[in-house]
Amino acid sequence: MSSVIIVGAGIGGLCLAQGLERAGVEFEVLEADAGPQVRDQGYRLRIDAMGQRALRQCLPPDLFELFRASCAVSGPARFVDPQLNPLPGRRPENWRENAGAGQADGDLSADRQVLRDILSHGLAARIRWGRRAREFERDGDGIIVRCADGAEHRAGLVVAADGLHSPLRRQWLPQAEPEAIGALNLYGKAPLAGVDPAMLAGPTVVFADGFTLVAEPMRFRAPMETLAALHAPDCRLGPADDYVYWALFGRMECLGGSLSDEEAGESVRRRVADAARGLHPSLSALLARTAPETIKGRAVRMASHVPMWPSGRLTALGDAIHAMSPAGGVGANTALADAAALAACLADGGIDQAVARYEADMRSRAEQALAATRAGTERLLRRA
Ligand SMILES: Cc1cc2nc3c(=O)[nH]c(=O)nc-3n(C[C@H](O)[C@H](O)[C@H](O)COP(=O)(O)OP(=O)(O)OC[C@H]3O[C@@H](n4cnc5c(N)ncnc54)[C@H](O)[C@@H]3O)c2cc1C
Repeated sequence: MSSVIIVGAGIGGLCLAQGLERAGVEFEVLEADAGPQVRDQGYRLRIDAMGQRALRQCLPPDLFELFRASCAVSGPARFVDPQLNPLPGRRPENWRENAGAGQADGDLSADRQVLRDILSHGLAARIRWGRRAREFERDGDGIIVRCADGAEHRAGLVVAADGLHSPLRRQWLPQAEPEAIGALNLYGKAPLAGVDPAMLAGPTVVFADGFTLVAEPMRFRAPMETLAALHAPDCRLGPADDYVYWALFGRMECLGGSLSDEEAGESVRRRVADAARGLHPSLSALLARTAPETIKGRAVRMASHVPMWPSGRLTALGDAIHAMSPAGGVGANTALADAAALAACLADGGIDQAVARYEADMRSRAEQALAATRAGTERLLRRA
């Protein structure tokens, strides 16, 4: 029996795993994906000062340096209307520039797959790929996790880090199901070739009627293999070509109506093509040049608050307990901060005290992040 089972090898679960590894706490990770690269992870993640602190705390120093070096190099953002006319007044108060674009504690733009590879490094013996948790049962001082393949794992503490659709949260706290907020998020990545050079200088944030488009160049310092050889020679990173990441975030009715979880492919691409129609030719060309298979879409769901529960041997972090709209850009950062806080508490004392301290800390951080995200979401969904 491990002391800790982490369910979900996503951003938060793996950061916790690295933190526990550093602290010498026994653990294993159960992950539904059959392997580290079987599924597109999404594209770029902006990691803010809080997320960077969490990564610095949990990763060994060489991997943290590799993470920093692997992030894209980018300039300051511009805020524009659909015809690329400047709209400096629409710059969100909470917008954070990239590090290297004049803000000392600026964000780092990470490629999501590269970050997951860095976070998985050194944990091969601990991660059980292809183990989809289905339900849990309390068992004396511990918890049993039952998986879809019939496997059972028992631990003194189980951490649900299994994201937005967490089956453990559904069983444990059915009232905490994140609600659809009437918004969609459509995103993809386009090759650099042929993109308007003005879009390669830094992020472009376009405020249209009922939706926002963010386009951000992801240009890396050197091939990932070279960066790994320089900073953490044992770490194997797959190739990551430069690209432009873009994301449309808007009212459902402005992006083609409701979108089911199963909807993909042509239907999502048609929504993007329709949204591109009113945009400046540089923007519509960017969307049109996107590799079709990279275009994804989802209905945005968000937790209303973090419910109270009696502290025990099951806890949760990240989207599993406080899913947020991507409008705030803090979902992953809050998951990372949760992971670092839980790792520190577990390194420090017995499970019961550690979980109680962690949950108090997580609740206050998550409530703040949910409030900021709600405000940011309203601003971005405003009609012109
Ligand atoms: C397009 C887009 C852009 C975003 N950009 C940003 C950004 O710039 N900055 C930011 O802070 N946030 C951003 N977010 C939000 C961010 O992606 C999430 O908040 C973050 O990934 C949450 O991390 P997590 O570890 O809680 O969950 P996840 O990263 O979703 O990981 C959950 C893991 O659990 C696994 N899993 C699921 N079910 C099971 C099961 N039953 N058993 C075992 N394993 C399971 C999944 O396969 C996955 O690996 C963005 C989101 C989207 C969609």
